[in-house]
Amino acid sequence: MRDRLTVDEYAAAIGELLADALSTGSETVGLADALGRVTAAPILSPVDLPLFRNSQMDGFAVVSTDLRRLPVSLPIVGEVAARPSDPPPLVAGTAVRIMTGAVVPDGSDAVVPIEDTTVSGATVTVHRGRMPGEYVRERSVDVREGDRLLPGGLRLAPRHLAVLAAAGLDRVEVRSRVRLVIVTTGAELVAPGGPAGLGEVYDSNGPALAAAAGLCGAQVTRLIRSAHDDATALRETLAAAAGDADLILTSGGVSMGDYEVVRELLEAEGGWVGHVAMQPGGPQAMGRLLGVPIVGFPGNPVSSQISFEVFVAPLLRQVAGLPAASRPTRRLTADVTSVAGKRQFLRGRLVDDGRVEVVSGPGSHLVAGLAASDVLIDIPADTTSLREGDTVGTWVL
Ligand code: AMP
Ligand code: MG
Repeated sequence: MRDRLTVDEYAAAIGELLADALSTGSETVGLADALGRVTAAPILSPVDLPLFRNSQMDGFAVVSTDLRRLPVSLPIVGEVAARPSDPPPLVAGTAVRIMTGAVVPDGSDAVVPIEDTTVSGATVTVHRGRMPGEYVRERSVDVREGDRLLPGGLRLAPRHLAVLAAAGLDRVEVRSRVRLVIVTTGAELVAPGGPAGLGEVYDSNGPALAAAAGLCGAQVTRLIRSAHDDATALRETLAAAAGDADLILTSGGVSMGDYEVVRELLEAEGGWVGHVAMQPGGPQAMGRLLGVPIVGFPGNPVSSQISFEVFVAPLLRQVAGLPAASRPTRRLTADVTSVAGKRQFLRGRLVDDGRVEVVSGPGSHLVAGLAASDVLIDIPADTTSLREGDTVGTWVL
């Protein structure tokens, strides 16, 4: 592979690298753990829904032809409630008191709502006629046994869990989540929450990448801060974590300075370390260790977050059954200039009139600038200037 690639070329290369890692197997989970998971295959209904013919109203189960002349008085010969029951067939000329959800007796073809009756002792007087089938919920009108209850590849929402439970299923086969190990590198890194001495930097890429991966439906099995400059030590760290990973993401150590540990490691492993024509996020790396794919992002916080969004998030979202991120076009609130030959992802914010404004400078260390943005403004590599009102593509964050 050439050592300079376009964004699309590198995205395609990452897609190839991760193809196997992303086609994970499946597992069976209980409904309580199934929200947001993706069905591994279509699910067929083991039952009819409704399970049995039942009443849609509190009222009286009757034979509809008994209501031809109104009002009509009928003897109340029994009661069915919403509980296990097997009521005897209804005899024409009689009525049975019935509750919502209760089994409609054979022979009855309509339910009269209680509001349309008056009751006196053991007699009900019906004031309003009903057609056959009214207020009777027939068995299997919703689903027939053997019908497809849910398709494969569906991300489970509460309404999907409801239909599984309604069909008596307490577990569901879902795609296994992609397991991600995230390793931030740099001898300057310290954990937030404590002091930072001169030359030390709080590790913000770790929390950002872990959260972003989680939002994309992946499971972060390990989040490691590798605060040393030694490729051998890094190799040991990655090798020890490889068993927990379908994919390893690293940040830092891929550019042209000294102490570029990820570069050193991946070059030794026959990986690719080079430059992608984008800003931020130019230096990039990818390869494998012990068969596990590694994607190495640059360390600058804005670069690593945007790299994730551009190269990895779309793939993870797809396996997780999530919709692709929205990429609407917007008009610019002001003129913008851009470097020739590099695709720029500027930090932008939507304004009330639907246009987009640039927030923050282009520096890839400006974390607060990124935090102030809600979209990336995508400026093509061959564009060097745009005018106020011009249309740009945006990536919603
Ligand atoms: P590198 O890509 O390792 O050369 O790092 C580029 C810049 O990003 C340096 O200023 C690093 O201190 C900073 N940096 C690297 N990793 C992180 C991280 N995990 N969190 C915050 N800043 C980082
Ligand atoms: Mg570094």
